[in-house]
Amino acid sequence: MRGKRSKQYRKLMEQFSMTFGFREPYQILVDAEMIKDANRCTMDLAARLQSTVHGKVKPLITQCEIRKLYADKDQPGGNAAIELAKTFERRRCGHHPDEYPKPLETIECMRSVVDPKSTGENKHRYVVASQSLDVRRMLRAIRGVPLIYIKRSVMILEPMADESVQIREREEKRKFRAELKNTLGKRKREEKEERNGDDGEGDDDGSESDNEKATQASTSEKKPKKNRGIKGANPLSMKKKKPQQLPKKEAGKKPEAVSDAPAKRKRRKKTKSENGAEPSAQEPAPSNAGEEN
Ligand SMILES: [Zn+2]
Repeated sequence: MRGKRSKQYRKLMEQFSMTFGFREPYQILVDAEMIKDANRCTMDLAARLQSTVHGKVKPLITQCEIRKLYADKDQPGGNAAIELAKTFERRRCGHHPDEYPKPLETIECMRSVVDPKSTGENKHRYVVASQSLDVRRMLRAIRGVPLIYIKRSVMILEPMADESVQIREREEKRKFRAELKNTLGKRKREEKEERNGDDGEGDDDGSESDNEKATQASTSEKKPKKNRGIKGANPLSMKKKKPQQLPKKEAGKKPEAVSDAPAKRKRRKKTKSENGAEPSAQEPAPSNAGEEN
């Protein structure tokens, strides 16, 4: 369980890094309750934070939060909490005692620190460790805030909030589309070449084996025209053509069918031959396989 979760958290933090630009040392805003709870279950807070986010951490505590700890000084564990908090860097939230005789509620202080301009963005790329569900819920609405809490002595890194997931997906789609554009461009070019070379090819009896084809391809470089123009050494187009051999058995009588088919069938065949399946096995297989892709 621990191992699995650990892997999961590593991946999650990688996603935060890629999509939102998080970097080590991770700045982790810790609230007063988090410090108290960590002490209560004798957890080495800084060390545990570090192993949870899989990287160096810089724990921070706001002025408001440490004031709360001082206010609870006389309660059991009060001093220990203060001592622990003192080892963390102070984050100036700007809520001075003269202006704010009482420290701000955690939810308000955190909001002002994480998203000072209310733009819905985690401007300084804080990770937040808070024991308050309300605080975490508020922060889930801000894009790109990794959230941590302790539950029964176990430190939990929340899955990415919907808001952030959407951004991540949008970003990935964008990248994917860009790549697709590139490969599509390439493929179109290849298909053109293929089509030019195909005309004779389609009428073949389709009995050639891979090897024969391969050798043909390589020899065709030396004697160019002989082989209905299979393009020399392009292994990609070679593989793609193969699929056409299957349909041929059926469609051999009417060549038009062959020329209709290429795009889908090519794919299917390819996987088939990779699996080592009998090409001529059954007819239904082709269309199914094509759809899967
Ligand atoms: Zn504050």
